[in-house]
Amino acid sequence: MEKIAERIKEIIDKSRNIVVLSGLNTMRETGLNGVRAEHLAYETEEKYGYSNDEIVSSAFYARRSDIFYDYIKNVTINKEAVPTVVHKAVRQLQQKGKVPHIITRTVYELYQKAGCEHVLDMHGSIEKNICPACGKLFDMKYIKESKGEPVCDKCRIPIRPGFILLGERVDNGKVSEVCDIVESADVLLVLGSAVRDPICQHFERYYKGNKFILVNTEEKLGDTRADYRLYGCLSEIVPYITGYDPDAVFPEKAEEKMAQVKK
Ligand SMILES: [Zn+2]
Repeated sequence: MEKIAERIKEIIDKSRNIVVLSGLNTMRETGLNGVRAEHLAYETEEKYGYSNDEIVSSAFYARRSDIFYDYIKNVTINKEAVPTVVHKAVRQLQQKGKVPHIITRTVYELYQKAGCEHVLDMHGSIEKNICPACGKLFDMKYIKESKGEPVCDKCRIPIRPGFILLGERVDNGKVSEVCDIVESADVLLVLGSAVRDPICQHFERYYKGNKFILVNTEEKLGDTRADYRLYGCLSEIVPYITGYDPDAVFPEKAEEKMAQVKK
């Protein structure tokens, strides 16, 4: 175990093209429930009389948007979305110029909140709900604080969720973009996902290298496809293998400095 951790650390230290594929377990450590909230299946059925998967489906949203939004406000937005040390460690790798892209299926923009750039939210974002009439965007705080069904503050019509619902497809353009990104990666770093979890299963086959690293909370069937594997608490493993230093200071980028001078 320790030997593998050392080897992974060495690979990350040497590479400048690490593509991060991030699964749901990176979100679970924050205490957020997610959209489907599989772990609350019983409670959801008890409260609403429908299963989680029914409620977050596009057909159900079209029919019963009142129940849909009650569920989103109480189950999906169960707390504030605060990035963990995992997201911060990935951000630090980006500051070192090592991570050109982050691909995630969580919807809370946790990587962006840690300061990350070039994040592809494959399932959309709960921070970008949209008015179908005027196109104005509304964040999750707006949804949470709305009385009843959230409506656009200008048009007074219901807002469309910014994340994809069950039964909706991920945008094709986005999918082929990710295929290219994964194909050109030197290191494929999967965080908080099993190999057979949806996003990883779809994209890992495009990776051509021999540095497929998987870090997850527990071992799952099919994981042996990864070249290196580590299991346990993500908030302990990820800072270690990335050499995360919470006190490190990085020079600001030229354009950010320019913007500050203009102010
Ligand atoms: Zn509007």
